[in-house]
Amino acid sequence: MAQLSERVKALVQPHLRTLEPYDPNFTPTHVNLSANENTYDVPAPARALIDAALAATPTNRYPDPMSNDLRDELAAWHGVARENVIAGNGGDELLYNFLLAFGGPGRTLVNVPPTFSEYAFFASLTQTGVHDVWRDPETFLPQADELVAAAGEASLVILTSPNNPTGDVAPLELVARVCDACPGLVMVDEAYGEFAAAGTSAEALLAEHDNLLVLHTLSKAFALAGARCGYVIAAPDVIDALAAVRQIYSVNVLTQAAALAAVRARAEFDATVEKIVSERSHVYESLARVEGVRVWPSEGNFVLARMAGASRVRERLRDERSILVRDFSYAPGLADCLRITVGTPEENDAVIEALSEIVPEEAARAVATGNEPACATNKEDQDD
Ligand code: PMP
Repeated sequence: MAQLSERVKALVQPHLRTLEPYDPNFTPTHVNLSANENTYDVPAPARALIDAALAATPTNRYPDPMSNDLRDELAAWHGVARENVIAGNGGDELLYNFLLAFGGPGRTLVNVPPTFSEYAFFASLTQTGVHDVWRDPETFLPQADELVAAAGEASLVILTSPNNPTGDVAPLELVARVCDACPGLVMVDEAYGEFAAAGTSAEALLAEHDNLLVLHTLSKAFALAGARCGYVIAAPDVIDALAAVRQIYSVNVLTQAAALAAVRARAEFDATVEKIVSERSHVYESLARVEGVRVWPSEGNFVLARMAGASRVRERLRDERSILVRDFSYAPGLADCLRITVGTPEENDAVIEALSEIVPEEAARAVATGNEPACATNKEDQDD
């Protein structure tokens, strides 16, 4: 990946000198299971409502800065008040604003890797210190006591539930302990929450813990990744701070209209979420049967799989089968891991069949060449 030029390195703020411009290096493939998107489109009845809402939305005026109609609909859905909700330009913007408002020099974020890489990235942009509490290297579950102890010293904690890319849900009892221990704020990122079992959302804890924030996005279950809309539910004074630091027009009129129509039509999305959840079991069970593949149980719309030579396997999937999955080999703790988004039955069968053939070949090759460790050093596969 490209580095900043020497000239620009001398000009940017010192803590930004090592940044690399983001280049997803996207390769067009027939099957894209690389970004945890919803590979089903918006259901036709919901799409018709979205299209009608877009057609009725003038673009000559600035947006309502706070997306109040959308906030009201989200509040009614989640059983909270408008004051408890803020919308953003994707969950990413809200995560960034969380670090911007509440992090900064001298503050510490407790991060629970392997997890979504944007948390550490936004911490670095805002000069927030990071205390990593690593997950168990075998199970990838958070180390509860260590996490609670770290939370006791932290300004901020981010827990991801289900976690990207490991798929596990943060137990509510652990979230409550972290909230009790932390003198600052605790964000539970539920970007994939709609795919998890009922009763696992940390929203159940909001009434008892005024330092808890729950993040959602319309990018996954609602199939609106391209529209960029996420939202946070939290105590009104926390929402006020997020509102104070935000770029006032970050959620544009078309996104507000589309998101409102989609959330009103939320029942239409249940069938695809159910399909993805049932296909997730199929992918998990099928991959578990492939010799040389280890998979972890997942409550998200993706499955993490470990295999010898994962970087080569990923390249062969792309080049020989036109299937794109996400390589995490470069990421600490995730050696030889690929993350496979759950797609349509046809897409899932294609990736299962391809892996059933390629993994044994690569395992044999690794043995023949003396088990060279896979090392993907480029970060083309980072972030989403
Ligand atoms: N949280 C997690 C755990 C994610 O994986 C993602 C995106 N993949 C996001 C938040 C942000 O999603 P978006 O900005 O599309 O809402």
